[in-house]
Amino acid sequence: MSDCIFCKINSKEIPAKIVYEDERVLAFYDISPAAPVHILIIPKEHIASIDDVGEAHRDLLGHIHLIIKRIAEDLNINRDGYRIVNNCGDAGGQTVHHLHFHLLGGRQMKWPPG
Ligand code: 5GP
Repeated sequence: MSDCIFCKINSKEIPAKIVYEDERVLAFYDISPAAPVHILIIPKEHIASIDDVGEAHRDLLGHIHLIIKRIAEDLNINRDGYRIVNNCGDAGGQTVHHLHFHLLGGRQMKWPPG
């Protein structure tokens, strides 16, 4: 999508600090970190939100979660623990309408989130 900021990061029109990339997935540091480690993991395909995934995305979603686990290991936040967040829609707190998962670590998380 031409006006999607994450599509522009994927096409390298907008710079980002990339930590992982393959043919289906891109992961990069969040510009406004909410934890010492804050990575965004996106599918390269423009999917607006988790509400827009279907059966065809089953393998992609599994792949994304295996990548998240690998990044957590690579960045050494797996031992103490980490959080994976997906905000869906306006009431869910989603501000960028390209499916993404937040990987947060390096501090103690609280519950419930705000
Ligand atoms: P959401 O609120 O949609 O769940 O999360 C969107 C995230 O994208 C926010 O944490 C925000 O800081 C991050 N973000 C927004 N614009 C940019 C950008 O241009 N570059 C990067 N790296 N992160 C961004």
